[in-house]
Amino acid sequence: MSAVLLDVESVSKSFGGIEANRDISLSVREGKIIGLIGPNGSGKTTLFNSIVGYHPVDKGNIRFQNKEITQLLVPEIARLGMLRTFQQTRIYGKMSCIQNMQISMPLAEQSLKAVFKPFRRQDMQEIEDMLAFVGLHSKRYLLAGDLSFGQQKLLEFAMALIAGPKLLLLDEPTAGINPTLINGLIDRLKVANKELGITLLIIEHNMRVIMNIADHIYCLAHGKLLAEGPPQEIQNNQIVIDAYLGAH
Ligand code: ADP
Ligand code: MG
Repeated sequence: MSAVLLDVESVSKSFGGIEANRDISLSVREGKIIGLIGPNGSGKTTLFNSIVGYHPVDKGNIRFQNKEITQLLVPEIARLGMLRTFQQTRIYGKMSCIQNMQISMPLAEQSLKAVFKPFRRQDMQEIEDMLAFVGLHSKRYLLAGDLSFGQQKLLEFAMALIAGPKLLLLDEPTAGINPTLINGLIDRLKVANKELGITLLIIEHNMRVIMNIADHIYCLAHGKLLAEGPPQEIQNNQIVIDAYLGAH
């Protein structure tokens, strides 16, 4: 078995009276694709925010590569090799795809410095290769804001990949994108995992997608961990089925 890359231990987080996460534990082993599912409002995004240092947890511990990161902030955690993408994309609409990639490139440097850094030919080659990897090479000079929503998500994915993370957290990567792009994205996620060696933790609402790609799945409901197991087991777990049916 591969080493544990991310270890979340008994994490709780409340907003006023709302217990968004209660006593949640999960672990992610190197090289795996781990799914995080659960009805809307079950606390998935909150857990991501806690893991990447967006807000402090109320209780619990988070370790990344055996290093305690519970108190660290987003840039510090990013420098250790953990990145996330958002449910709503965060791209710069008035910049071209290439420019968006340029500012995403140097994980270890401050982004402002990166903008003014002279660009090397091999950097540009790497950017073009990565845009080709997600199928956006022909769009590379377009403004990111002129891409379709699905293409913007692919760009955001490429921006995360080019930073070279060890662990990438994806928040609903397929939400709002058309079925053709979904199949392409599933394929790219698998290749990023198998060939680029990036471990993935994926929040996904589309059951078909997550059953197809995840090695192991955690299911949240009402801020708590409801079940975990391999996709087949989760798919047939009556408690999970009830949580989803109850949510609609
Ligand atoms: P999911 O991603 O599973 O849909 P969220 O983690 O976004 O769920 O939300 C879980 C609960 O926490 C919801 O009830 C939501 O309204 C609440 N919540 C999330 N973020 C905040 C916040 N910043 N302030 C107040 N409540 C929040
Ligand atoms: Mg969410």
